[in-house]
Amino acid sequence: MPAPFVYQAHASRIVFGAGSLAQIGQEVKALGATRALVLCTPEQVHSAQQVIDLLGSRAAGLFPKAQMHVPLETAREARELARRLGADCAVAIGGGSTTGLGKAIALDSGLPIVAIPTTYAGSEVTPIYGLTDGGIKKTGRDARVLPRTVIYDPELTTTLPLRMTVTSAFNAIAHAAEGLYAHDGNPVIDLMAEEGIRACAAALPPLLDEPTALQARSDALYGAWLCGTVLGQVAMGLHHKLCHTLGGSFNLPHAEVHTVILPHALAYNTAHAPQAMAHIARALGAADAARGIFELAQRLGAPTSLAAIGMPEAGLDRAADLAVTTPYPNPRPLERAALRALLQRAFDGAAPAA
Ligand code: NAD
Repeated sequence: MPAPFVYQAHASRIVFGAGSLAQIGQEVKALGATRALVLCTPEQVHSAQQVIDLLGSRAAGLFPKAQMHVPLETAREARELARRLGADCAVAIGGGSTTGLGKAIALDSGLPIVAIPTTYAGSEVTPIYGLTDGGIKKTGRDARVLPRTVIYDPELTTTLPLRMTVTSAFNAIAHAAEGLYAHDGNPVIDLMAEEGIRACAAALPPLLDEPTALQARSDALYGAWLCGTVLGQVAMGLHHKLCHTLGGSFNLPHAEVHTVILPHALAYNTAHAPQAMAHIARALGAADAARGIFELAQRLGAPTSLAAIGMPEAGLDRAADLAVTTPYPNPRPLERAALRALLQRAFDGAAPAA
């Protein structure tokens, strides 16, 4: 019999499948919208133009200036354009940065968002938003920012460069791994998390040989959806806090930090979350969760050291201090000395150790 739990489902509509981008018109129509503002990064204007063509008269305009961490000025400019155009919905095509811009518009205006993710970040199925003002990123949760509809079309991910494919999938795996030992977890989330890790991990080796393989791209995106759903439902622990600190204070690339830190954060928690580790190990087909993740990263040629992704060694002490300043739930209590040692191993690219 499971322990008592609370399960809060989020109301998003998921449309999944190769070629499903073609359904954008009817999905916007189903929301009752007639004037969609399309959002993308400067690098993805080509994909946004495809959306505009498919929307026809339901396209009201394009805002092609999404960027990392949603600067407040960019959000203001996009909100103003939405107002000027009389937009009644926003369509965000891209990774977490573009989805994040859509959320910033929704937070302010309540406009419904249709997300068309092209990475594995998972933001499209979470009510979590982030906004950066004067270099400081603030995050929060608000039901209004959760995209109403998500179109997952694996064909759109075939252009994702291999290194980003791998690190973005590790970012996804990290959501599911921490969801398995969340203090507010539940049995449904455990099912999604294990299956999400399995699908992402199994998809990556074939993509090394053939980055456009549609079956593997579908598996990875399916896994990313499950892992993102976990992130949206339950609280994250040590791993996400460390990544947030390292990304925010040392400006390290988001998905790469996740890739380097995950095996070490899991090793730290191993003895305190045996059931979660059993789920992760089973999903990887490995004997040990932390080692399994580390070896998968090595096999895929992913970054495995903080040194390799631009972390200054002199910053490790401050990172350890920051990691223990605001307490949060985590299976193993936060011990500064042990976390400092964890960061050193991650910096050196050493194998994970408890
Ligand atoms: P990203 O959105 O910043 O994209 C990185 C680059 O890759 C961009 O130039 C983008 O245009 C390009 N790109 C994206 N998909 C592509 C494709 N298929 N082909 C070619 N190029 C493509 O990267 P990301 O890792 O998806 O998102 C990171 C951001 O998302 C961070 O700011 C992070 O904090 C946020 N995030 C938020 C949540 C949440 O729940 N709120 C969850 C995960 C990540």
